[in-house]
Amino acid sequence: MSETFYDYIIIGAGVAGIASAQYAARSGLKTLVIDSSGSGGQALLIVSLENYPGLVPPISGMDFSLNMKKQAEGFGATFVNEKVSSIDKIANKFSIKTNKTVYSCYAVLIATGAEHRALGVPGEKEHEGRGVSYCATCDGPFFKGKNIFVVGGGDSACDEAMYLSTLSDHITLVHRRAKLRATGRVANRVLQNPKITVRFNSDIKEIRGNGKVEYVILRNVETQEETEVPADAVFVFVGMLPKTDLVQMLPKDEAGYIKTNDKMETAIKGFFAAGDVRAKPFRQVVTATADGAIAAHEAFEYIGTVKD
Ligand code: NAP
Repeated sequence: MSETFYDYIIIGAGVAGIASAQYAARSGLKTLVIDSSGSGGQALLIVSLENYPGLVPPISGMDFSLNMKKQAEGFGATFVNEKVSSIDKIANKFSIKTNKTVYSCYAVLIATGAEHRALGVPGEKEHEGRGVSYCATCDGPFFKGKNIFVVGGGDSACDEAMYLSTLSDHITLVHRRAKLRATGRVANRVLQNPKITVRFNSDIKEIRGNGKVEYVILRNVETQEETEVPADAVFVFVGMLPKTDLVQMLPKDEAGYIKTNDKMETAIKGFFAAGDVRAKPFRQVVTATADGAIAAHEAFEYIGTVKD
C-alpha cells in the first residue's frame, strides 16, 4: 500500500472527526485526518465544557479537543494540516486532492462542521475586526469594561454573553423575539445576570462608526422604533452555516445540511457525514462525537466489503 493510501480518510478535525479517527484507528483501520486549520473546530471556542457527560470538573473545549487528538494518535491515527480541494469516487475508491498531495482511500468521512452566520446589516462587514466579532473568547478581552452588544437568542449567544459578562458590566443581548431560544438553564443564567440587559423584540439595523464600532441602531421589531445607542463592540451569534463546498454532489436538506441515515451514510456508498455538517435536530459536542463513532463503525463494516 502506498504512503498516500488509507482505509479511511476524515476531512475535518473537529470533535466529530477526531472521535471518528479514534474509533477507526482503534478498530485497525489505517486512518488519516485532514484539516486546513489544526484540530478542535468550533469546540476550541468553548470556555468551559460543562455538559459533556462524565466530564467533571468541566475543562475548556481546547483541552478537550487536544486530549481527544492525543487519544486518537495513541491508537494510530495520522493528522495532517492540508486543504482539501476535491473529493472524487473512482470505482470503489475515493481520491482526495489537497494543496500538497493526492490521497486515496476506501471510505471518506466529511466532518467539516459549520461556520458563523453573519447578521447582514450595513456596517457589519466594514467593522469586522474593529468591534464586530463572531468569537467572544478571541476578541472579548479587547473590550474589558466596554459597552458590548451580543446578537442572538440561542445557546451560543447566551453562553457568550455570560462569558463577556466576566469582562464587562455593560452587556446588552439583543434578541428579535419575546423569548430566548436557548435551553432553560442557559437562558435563565442570562436573565438572572445583573450585568446583562436583554432587549427582547429588537434587532440591530445598522452598525455605525468611524474606523471602529461607535453606535448601533436598535430597532424594536414590533413598533419599528429606531434608537441610536453608543456601542464599543457587537458580538454576533445568529446561528451557523454548514461547510459543504467540497460536497456539492451530496443531497442536502433545505438549510443546506448533508442528509444521512442513522448510520451516517450519505447518498454515495462509502461516503459518510458526521457532526454539525449533517442534517440533525440537536448539535452538541456529545452528538458530534457520537456521530463520529457511528461513522467509524459503519466505515469499518463497509470497508470489509470492498477491500482488495
Ligand atoms: P441557533 O440555536 O440557531 O440560534 C440562533 C439565534 O440567532 C436564534 O435565536 C435566532 O433567532 C437568531 N437569529 C438568526 N438570524 C438572525 C438575524 N438575522 N438577526 C437576528 N437574530 C437572528 O444557533 P446557535 O446558538 O449558534 O446554536 C447552534 C447549535 O449549537 C444549537 O443546536 C445549540 O443548541 C448548540 N449549542 C449548544 C451549546 C451548549 O450546549 N452550551 C452552546 C452553543 C451552541 P430566532 O430565535 O428568532 O430564530
